[in-house]
Amino acid sequence: MSKVIVIGGGPAGMSAAYFSAKNGNETILLEKNEKLGKKLYITGKGRCNLTNDCDVKTVIENVVSNPKFLYSAVNGFSPENTKELISSTGLELKTERGNRVFPKSDKSSDVIKAFARLLSSVNVKVITSCRVLKLEFSNTEPIKVQKLLTDKGEFLCDKVIIATGGLSYPTTGSTGDGYMFAKEAGHTVIKPVAALSAMVLKEDLSAANGFLLKNVTLSVYKNGKKVFSELGEMLIYKGGIDGPLTVSCSSLINRENLDEIVLSLDFKPALSEEKLNNRLLRDFSENKGKLSVVLRKLLPYEFIPMAIKRAGINPEIQVSAVKDEDRKNLVKTIKNFELHPKKLFPIEAAIVTAGGVKVSEIDPKTMKSKLAENLYFAGEVIDVDAFTGGFNIQIALSTGHSAGISV
Ligand SMILES: Cc1cc2nc3c(=O)[nH]c(=O)nc-3n(C[C@H](O)[C@H](O)[C@H](O)COP(=O)(O)OP(=O)(O)OC[C@H]3O[C@@H](n4cnc5c(N)ncnc54)[C@H](O)[C@@H]3O)c2cc1C
Repeated sequence: MSKVIVIGGGPAGMSAAYFSAKNGNETILLEKNEKLGKKLYITGKGRCNLTNDCDVKTVIENVVSNPKFLYSAVNGFSPENTKELISSTGLELKTERGNRVFPKSDKSSDVIKAFARLLSSVNVKVITSCRVLKLEFSNTEPIKVQKLLTDKGEFLCDKVIIATGGLSYPTTGSTGDGYMFAKEAGHTVIKPVAALSAMVLKEDLSAANGFLLKNVTLSVYKNGKKVFSELGEMLIYKGGIDGPLTVSCSSLINRENLDEIVLSLDFKPALSEEKLNNRLLRDFSENKGKLSVVLRKLLPYEFIPMAIKRAGINPEIQVSAVKDEDRKNLVKTIKNFELHPKKLFPIEAAIVTAGGVKVSEIDPKTMKSKLAENLYFAGEVIDVDAFTGGFNIQIALSTGHSAGISV
C-alpha cells in the first residue's frame, strides 16, 4: 500500500483518487476550491454530458490531439465503464442526440454527488480549499517527488498524480498550476492554446448578431485543401461565430496560420448548385418585386444584403431584372459563403485547452512520468483534447483510471 496524493478534484482527479483508493492505497485528494468539480458543475450547460455512448474506436476518432496516446486508457476505462460506474451510485443516466450521455435529472450537481459517494465509499480523504504551491524533488536519478508544499502545510507521500486541468475557465480552478509542476520535474509543456472555441472573423457579421443558422455546412480549407466539413448549427455571436460547428472547427485550426485558412458556409447543403439555380428561377418567375424581398423565402433575413453584395448585384434590383450571370453568382455565394478567421476567442473562454504535458514523456498505459519516479498525470493537463459530445470528460475519467490503478 502506498500513500498517494492526487492534486485536483475535477473528473480526472476524482477518477484517479477513486481507483487509487479502491486499489488499496491510502489516498488524499487535494482541491484548491472550497468544493470538488467546480468545472464539472458548468459542463453541458449545467447538465453534464459525462460521456458518449459509443465504442472505444469512436472515442479515439473524436480526439483531436494525440489520439493514439489515449487508446490504452480509453480501452481500459471506456464509456461503457463510465456509465456502469456512475449508475452504480444510483444515479440514472439517459442518452440523447449524438449519443451524448447525461444524468436523467439534467443536473450536473448529481454527477458531482455521485463522485463524492464513490470517493467516500473507498475512504478517499478529500481536503478542499487546499492549493498545492510546489512539489519538492529529490536529487536522485531519476528524480522523485519528496513532498508537496500547500497553503495548508506540507504533505509527504509515496506517489503523486497531477490532475490540475488546463487553462480554460480559470475561475473554476484550472489556472495552469500543473504545467508549472510538470516543468519543475523536467517535462516539456506543449504551448496551451484555445480549443472548442468561438472565433472572431475578418468579416463584419454584426448585422446578424444572435442569429442561429441551422442545417448549414461549414467547411474548412487550408491552403485550398478541404480539411473539415460538417453539417450542423452555427451561431453569429458578438460579430464572430460560435456554436457546435464553429467550436469543432476551432480545434482543427488553433495552431494554424489563420491567414491560410478559409471557412466556407453552405446555406443550402441539401441543394446542388443546379437545383438551387432552378429553385431561384422558379422563385423569380413566381414572384415580383425586389430581389432582397424574394430571397427571404430562401435565406435568413440578416444575410440577404450580405449575399447580394457579395454576388456583385445591385441591392435595389427587381427580380425581373436579375441577369443569368447575377443568378449564377448568387448560387455560388449561397453555396460558398467565404469567411476568414481573424483569431480564436481567448483560452480563458475556450471550452478546453489544447496543449499541455508532452505525451511522449508519459507512459500511455499507466500515465506515469518517464522522467520522475513517482509522478503521474491525468486529464486535461496532458496534451490531449477532443471534440464535443462527452469525449473530454471521458478522457479525464479514462486517464484518471489508468493513473489510479497504476499507483
Ligand atoms: C463551459 C464548459 C462546458 C463543458 N462541457 C463539457 C461537457 O458537457 N462534456 C465534456 O466531456 N466536457 C465538457 N467540458 C470540458 C471538461 O469540463 C474538461 O475537459 C474536464 O473538466 C477536464 O477535467 P480535469 O479533471 O482534467 O480538469 P478540471 O475539471 O479543470 O479540474 C482540475 C481541478 O484541479 C484543481 N486545481 C488546479 N490547480 C490546483 C492546485 N495547485 N492545487 C489544488 N487543486 C488544483 C482545480 O481547482 C480543478 O478543480 C466543458 C468545459 C467547459 C469550460
